[in-house]
Amino acid sequence: MFNQLIARTLPIVPKPIVRRVSQRYIAGETINDAVQAVQRLQQRGAVATIDVLGEFVRSREQAQQEAGMSLHVLDAIHQHDLRSGVSVKLTSLGLDIDDALCYTNVRNIVARAAEIGRFVRLDMENSPYTTKTLDIYRRLRSEGFANTGVVIQAYMRRSEDDIRLLASDRASVRLCKGIYIEPEEIAFRKREEIQEHYKRLLCMLFDNGMYVAIATHDDVLLDFAQEEIIRRGLRREQYEFQMLLGVREHKRDELIRAGHKVRIYVPFGHDWYGYSIRRLQENPEVAGHIVKAMFGIGR
Ligand SMILES: Cc1cc2nc3c(=O)[nH]c(=O)nc-3n(C[C@H](O)[C@H](O)[C@H](O)COP(=O)(O)OP(=O)(O)OC[C@H]3O[C@@H](n4cnc5c(N)ncnc54)[C@H](O)[C@@H]3O)c2cc1C
Repeated sequence: MFNQLIARTLPIVPKPIVRRVSQRYIAGETINDAVQAVQRLQQRGAVATIDVLGEFVRSREQAQQEAGMSLHVLDAIHQHDLRSGVSVKLTSLGLDIDDALCYTNVRNIVARAAEIGRFVRLDMENSPYTTKTLDIYRRLRSEGFANTGVVIQAYMRRSEDDIRLLASDRASVRLCKGIYIEPEEIAFRKREEIQEHYKRLLCMLFDNGMYVAIATHDDVLLDFAQEEIIRRGLRREQYEFQMLLGVREHKRDELIRAGHKVRIYVPFGHDWYGYSIRRLQENPEVAGHIVKAMFGIGR
């Protein structure tokens, strides 16, 4: 109860406190911080996808700057020969401003990634952007870019239909629960309902022979996925697990030891606040961390 209360009041917690308790979720502010985080992950046997923090950009200049940052990240990935791709949020590339601008930005990123043999995941944002994001993904595929994939959110009631549409070109799909607050008419709200839908969608993706990035830290789903992988005799090239930086690292290591590919989502940048709030709201021990930080315990 106390954790839920603190999670709800996080927006009024002073920013320096939020920053301190959310440090584990973010690689740092610079590209170099992200490179070092990926190198540390590689030493543990994981691979990565780097995300430049930023979303809901309102000006063309800023959208172009954000796209430029992802291009710099790809250069750094190439230069350091990292086992990493990038993840991008289309609202940071101008989806709210001009569809054409957004498409040009994301296309440049995907084209550069293709040149250096890397992958670009289009993150999925809140429901006003679902259709647009899937459309942009399909347009990129129709232009021949195979090095890009999308995200399906298990809390969305429409997701089975979306998978049916994506199945024809064997899309690479990251399957996650979904993080944004959506109305009940379009999204499941109860934990068990979301878990059941997640399981159903995962089976659909496997049934259709699609590459699945199983993005969850939930033991119920991780156990289910591993049982399905064994039952179906899937090979390592047919799926991967994905987790967020700083979350359930023991579980990450366990999955790697069991022989699975595990990719870690590595966010970095100056625009850390929105992402940090979302991560803290999902941390079941958020209250303890906030209280400790407020009173300077365990620095
Ligand atoms: C790689 C990756 C990419 C994602 N991309 C998207 C996306 O594009 N769009 C989108 O809407 N959502 C995305 N998400 C977020 C996702 O939708 C969920 O909100 C998030 O993963 C939490 O759900 P869960 O399945 O881990 O289950 P939960 O029930 O939230 O977590 C299971 C357990 O993991 C632990 N845990 C979870 N979060 C934390 C935390 N922050 N701190 C400490 N412990 C924690 C707890 O022990 C918890 O009981 C992504 C998630 C991952 C892993």
